[in-house]
Amino acid sequence: MLIKTLLNKVERYKSFVYGAICVMLVDGVEALVIDIEPRRNSRPLCPECGKRRNVYDRQPRRLFEYLPVWTYKCYYRYAPRRVDCPTCGVKVEALPWGYGKERMTFSYQVFLARWAKRLSWKETADIFETSWDTVFRAVQFVVDYGLAHRSLDGVTEIGVDEIKVFKGHKYLTMVYQLNAGVRRLLWCGPERKTKTLLRFFHEFGKERSAKIKFVCSDMWAPYLKVIAKKAPQALNILDRFHIMRAFSEAIDQIRRDEVKQFKANGQENVLERGRWLLLKRPENLSEKQTARLDELLKLNLASIKGYLLREDFQRFWDYQRSDFAEKFLDNWVTRALQTDLEPMKKVARMLRSHKPLILNWFKAKGQLSSGAVEGMNLKAKLTMRKAFGFRTLKCLQIALYHELGKLPEPDYLHRFC
Ligand SMILES: [Zn+2]
Repeated sequence: MLIKTLLNKVERYKSFVYGAICVMLVDGVEALVIDIEPRRNSRPLCPECGKRRNVYDRQPRRLFEYLPVWTYKCYYRYAPRRVDCPTCGVKVEALPWGYGKERMTFSYQVFLARWAKRLSWKETADIFETSWDTVFRAVQFVVDYGLAHRSLDGVTEIGVDEIKVFKGHKYLTMVYQLNAGVRRLLWCGPERKTKTLLRFFHEFGKERSAKIKFVCSDMWAPYLKVIAKKAPQALNILDRFHIMRAFSEAIDQIRRDEVKQFKANGQENVLERGRWLLLKRPENLSEKQTARLDELLKLNLASIKGYLLREDFQRFWDYQRSDFAEKFLDNWVTRALQTDLEPMKKVARMLRSHKPLILNWFKAKGQLSSGAVEGMNLKAKLTMRKAFGFRTLKCLQIALYHELGKLPEPDYLHRFC
C-alpha cells in the first residue's frame, strides 16, 4: 500500500513494521490510524539500561499522534511490550518514535515546535486543532533536547542584561553569546540578583568562564560584582546601549515631574505627547516632529535641559582616544552636577563612579560589536509580544530559548516544514 511505502521512506524503524491502516474515530473525529508491530523475533529494549531483553507481557494498544496527512489527524497504534530486565526489573519498552506516557510522537513534537517558531503558540494550536498545552509540551521537548545537546565551546564574548517581564517589578536576567555569527541566548533566569548571575556562571562552568574575553553589561551593581568575581580576566564593558538607557530613564523622570508640576500650577501641559520627541534621537524624528521639537526647545523647561545634556553627551562616543574621552566625560559630569536636574545628576554621579568600566568601551573598540545586546533584547521583546498566553516565567523562558537559543533540533523529522 502506498501509504506504507511513503512512511517507510520518511520514518523507518529497524525493529518494527507498519501493519494495517484504517480510518476510525479518535476523540470523535475521523482519523488515520496506522498499526505498528514488532518484527518477528525482535526483542524489546529496556528503557533504563538500553539492552535487549525478553518480553514480560504486552500492554493494551495505545495511540501515538503523528503528523497530520491531508487534513486528517494521524496516529500510530501499538501495544507496548514490557521487558523483563534482570538488572532494572519489569519496564515498558523504549520506543524509537515516542517517550513515556507522552501521546505525541517525537516527529509530531518537532513539527509543532517548528510551526510555533513562525506563529504564536495559540495560532499553532488553532491550525493543527490541538490545545495550547500540547504546543507548549512540544516546544518544551525540543528545547530540553536542544539544551542538552548544544555546544558551549568558543564562547568568548557575552552580554548580560535584564528584561522586565509581566507587570510590576519582575525581571529575567539574560545572558547572550555575542561572538559574531553565533549570537544567541545562552541562559535566562528569574530575577536580577547576585545569586541569579552566580547561577549562570555555576552552570556554565569554571573552565569555560575562564575563556571569556569580553562581558557587556549595564551598571547594575550585583552583575558587576559577579562578573568581577567569576570572570576576572574578562574586560567588562559598559556599552553605549546600556549607558544611554540610563539617560532615557532620567529624561523620562524629569518630564513626568514637570508634567505633574504643570498640573499642580494649573498650567497648560506643553509636554503633552512630548515623550517620544525627547527620547528619540533627533535624526529619527519626522519633519513634523522636528518642527514641534524646535518649538519646545525655545521654552525654558527642565525636560529640554535634560534633553540637551543627553544630546551633548552623544559626542563622547565619537572619541578615538580614551584619554580625550575621559576629559570630556569629567567635563560633562561637572556641568551636569551644576544643574538642578536631580535625575540627570544621578546619571552624572553614576558615570563618575563607573568611569573605568565605561572607558573600557574604547579599549574594546573594533573588537566587540556594539549594539549586539540591544539587538538581542529587541528580539526577546518581540518573542514576549508574540507570547500571548505565557502566564508563567517557565513558559516564557522556554519560548525565549526556543526563539533565541539557536538550539540543535532532534533529527527525527525530515524537512516537512
Ligand atoms: Zn535494564
